[in-house]
Amino acid sequence: MTKMLYLEDTYRFETKAKIVKCGEDYIVLDQTIFYPQGGGQPFDCGKIETPNGEIQIHAVRFIDNEIRHFGSINEDWDQTKVLCTIDRERRLLNARYHTTGHLLANIIENIYASLTPTKCHAFPGESYVEFQCDSTTYDLEGVRKRLDDDIHTGLATKIFEINRNLFEKKYYKLPCAVDDDKDFRVLQIADYKPIPCGGTHLNNTQEIGSAIIKKSKIKNNILKVSYEVQSL
Ligand SMILES: [Zn+2]
Repeated sequence: MTKMLYLEDTYRFETKAKIVKCGEDYIVLDQTIFYPQGGGQPFDCGKIETPNGEIQIHAVRFIDNEIRHFGSINEDWDQTKVLCTIDRERRLLNARYHTTGHLLANIIENIYASLTPTKCHAFPGESYVEFQCDSTTYDLEGVRKRLDDDIHTGLATKIFEINRNLFEKKYYKLPCAVDDDKDFRVLQIADYKPIPCGGTHLNNTQEIGSAIIKKSKIKNNILKVSYEVQSL
């Protein structure tokens, strides 16, 4: 299984690796900094340099238990040592959107305890967080203010690993099924509710720069709050 270096450091943009499988239009590496699309976050793009040429990576997906890096594969590069570089701007933009989604969900849940977050979609231009809800009106002015304040003040984020029993003893009952014995990865922004997540996050909310709530709507007991991260 490919070692997922993107889980260890959001700001690692370059690494050496070895090709361990060469498909028709994809390669698999022994370790990777490329984030495979999932969890509401887009994949990383970038390039992989081989001794005989460069592969532009235009998509990265988790398929059949493999992280597949898609590009033009012209020859059998199995076991070749390579240099991988991801698109820095794209990674950081995705991390800004993704971290904003967490922060916004945390703030809304903190202000409206009856709301349960159900989904976060953090693609630039189409980002939103969704909640199961029971009321038809939510005043988001307080949320807007807190979002501005938390970004401006700068809250540190932390990543830790924990197993289900310990997590539920310390925090809350997990809504989804997870393996009892296996540790899973959790993101926590300052003292907000920790959330299990395998995405790439910023170290501090200040790095978001600026974010706005674009609109909100309620349909079939789902509150959808759309947001945008603004250019730095
Ligand atoms: Zn996350």
